[in-house]
Amino acid sequence: MRLLINTPTEDAEAWRAQFLALAPELDIRIWPDAGPVEEIDVVFAWRTRAGDLARYPRLRAVFSLGAGVDGLLADPQFPRHVPLVRMVDPNLAVLMAEYVAAAVLRYHCELDRYQALQAGQRWEKHVRPFACERTVGVLGLGELGTNAARTLAALGFPVRGWARSAHAIDGVHTFAGEAGLPAFLDALQVLVCLLPLTPHTRGLLDARLFARLAPGAFVINVARGAHVVERDLLAALDSGQLAGATLDVFDTEPLPAGHPYWTHPRVLVTPHISSVTSLRTAAALVVDNLRQWQAGGRLRNVVDPERGY
Ligand code: NAP
Repeated sequence: MRLLINTPTEDAEAWRAQFLALAPELDIRIWPDAGPVEEIDVVFAWRTRAGDLARYPRLRAVFSLGAGVDGLLADPQFPRHVPLVRMVDPNLAVLMAEYVAAAVLRYHCELDRYQALQAGQRWEKHVRPFACERTVGVLGLGELGTNAARTLAALGFPVRGWARSAHAIDGVHTFAGEAGLPAFLDALQVLVCLLPLTPHTRGLLDARLFARLAPGAFVINVARGAHVVERDLLAALDSGQLAGATLDVFDTEPLPAGHPYWTHPRVLVTPHISSVTSLRTAAALVVDNLRQWQAGGRLRNVVDPERGY
């Protein structure tokens, strides 16, 4: 089987080495040196240039390096007859839950406030509420959102979760679909976004949504930058409707120099690291999926291109 790796160039050789260590039988090419286009069976990619995937006439599957596939489906010429497999690695869910818990606890324990007080050499004590008095909501109850919601519930927060379809998760009050969104949002004190980016979820975090949260709420976006309407987020922070935002993902990455987020006193910026695909564990999952498929089994974790996730 011929596999073309099209990941950021600095990672491609490392992925090749890892794949070959596990599956020496693979014939691996690194984009743009694909060789004859008709030889490529499978592409392993994060994002591709528009039209690139349509160049391989015998393409049988596309594997996404990440859990999100919006970057690949953004290509208007994406070959929709070819199965698109997303990254599902339990380790991604563990890493994400750690980041989300850290971001929520940073606000809950007011570490952001004490960091600002320290800058002014001020010794001021505040009594914080109990975790059971601060409601946290998680948008998206998939592989990552469910684990994050469970982790927050285990820390003692009342947790709400929202998805397209109905879910039952111990310790989490769940809501479904557009009809369930207002009740999910109502007076939430912390909102975590773990949705996939689709035409339905793009721009969901806007002024109207922020207005439904409790005054002084916090927003944590670890999904995609385009879920958030930037000017609405900045306006909500400046009006005090939001007290802070932790942002790991952005419309343009890297976040451009001079962007207002960089210097906003109530914004924490991290460079898309909340949950990073691990070569060690993810390559083994890809190889295992490929081998079962070659042996006549079904590909696992295939995305529905119409649904967009
Ligand atoms: P997933 O398993 O596909 O779960 C997606 C969840 O979102 C599902 O619960 C789904 O509802 C819900 N959903 C989708 N469209 C919806 C809509 N229109 N209304 C309400 N709910 C909707 O995805 P995942 O593996 O958890 O990953 C989620 C996202 O996290 C990825 O797409 C990616 O963008 C992001 N991510 C970020 C990082 C990072 O480092 N920052 C790392 C990995 C992933 P149903 O359950 O009803 O289908």
